[in-house]
Amino acid sequence: MKILVTGGAGFIGSAVVRRAITQRGYTIANLDALTYAANQANLDSIADNPDYSFHRADIRDLDALVKVFAETDPDAVMHLAAESHVDRSIEGPIAFVETNVMGTANMLQAARTHWEGLSDARRDAFRFHHISTDEVYGALGPSGFFTETTRYAPNSPYASSKASSDMLVRAWGKTFKLPVVISNCSNNYGPFQFPEKLIPVVILKALAGEAIPVYGDGSNVRDWLYVDDHAEALLTILERGKLGEIYNVGGDAEVSNLDLVKQICAIIDKELDRSTPSDSLIKFVTDRPGHDFRYAIDSAKIKSELGWTPSVTVEEGIAETVRWYLENREWWQAIQARGHKQDRIGLAVGV
Ligand code: NAD
Repeated sequence: MKILVTGGAGFIGSAVVRRAITQRGYTIANLDALTYAANQANLDSIADNPDYSFHRADIRDLDALVKVFAETDPDAVMHLAAESHVDRSIEGPIAFVETNVMGTANMLQAARTHWEGLSDARRDAFRFHHISTDEVYGALGPSGFFTETTRYAPNSPYASSKASSDMLVRAWGKTFKLPVVISNCSNNYGPFQFPEKLIPVVILKALAGEAIPVYGDGSNVRDWLYVDDHAEALLTILERGKLGEIYNVGGDAEVSNLDLVKQICAIIDKELDRSTPSDSLIKFVTDRPGHDFRYAIDSAKIKSELGWTPSVTVEEGIAETVRWYLENREWWQAIQARGHKQDRIGLAVGV
């Protein structure tokens, strides 16, 4: 199978590309604009594989997309390219509309034209898989879970741009019969995550002995999904998911932000044999505007229909992730050397 993956130089996209090539033997064309969030080093392990090709293109540019479809002739699309950072969407929302909404509309149009020109057999087998977020469902109180039928109620510009893109995917499926599937997942973590998101920020701050900024009182709850478990879920959905369906993907791992930060600090203290506990570095900072209190995902559908389940607990995944950042300092030091630093959780300055 030839898959066109968009955003394959990003955090989740690169995990999908690596897995699709090494564990499935698929041919991957990676379409990416290489924004600040991309990192070609994420793909070093497969960059020379003959089944891998890279195509620099911007999803806001329909003509460029049409060209990449013609060059790569894919059997399926996994669309991950997006502006993905909530704090940045608060600082500059229009970029999120341009990339996540218009960019997805362009991808759908280019995919539709390509799909309509395929032979009958290839047209029947074609899939357009849109990778989205549980943030489209808004916030939960202390109880309950998001399911595939939860009403959309996005609160941040990022979440609303992803909700809009989900609606476009649905419409291209209903109106033009493009074979689409959507998945909505919880917060991902793991190796190769750009150091503007919560977990790498905490690890790098703790390693540097700098203040670890925690929004509000740290009581916000997130479900955490290990990135390789997510990549496996995405390939499973592409291979066996039902057309027109939505699949929620979660890690069965609800943790408050404060507990998560403390857990990371404890692992670092143990790994580095520190005598002063790293959690003394925690500093509570003014909460993010519109900060959703809790996200939690009910993954029963993907588990029962497709047999996918998370392979690691959050404790195992976090320990693995901290060790990866300790053992791969050159990866994040190269990003820091390019001028990226953080001033509070999630918010990157100096890029
Ligand atoms: P990321 O920010 O790490 O990577 C995004 C990639 O998209 C980058 O390689 C970037 O260069 C590329 N890109 C951005 N704008 C582009 C454009 N205009 N044209 C072409 N390429 C462009 O993102 P991620 O964390 O890997 O997330 C991937 C997808 O999964 C996104 O659609 C995101 O909304 C979704 N998602 C992420 C999470 C998470 O926890 N990270 C959770 C739920 C859903």
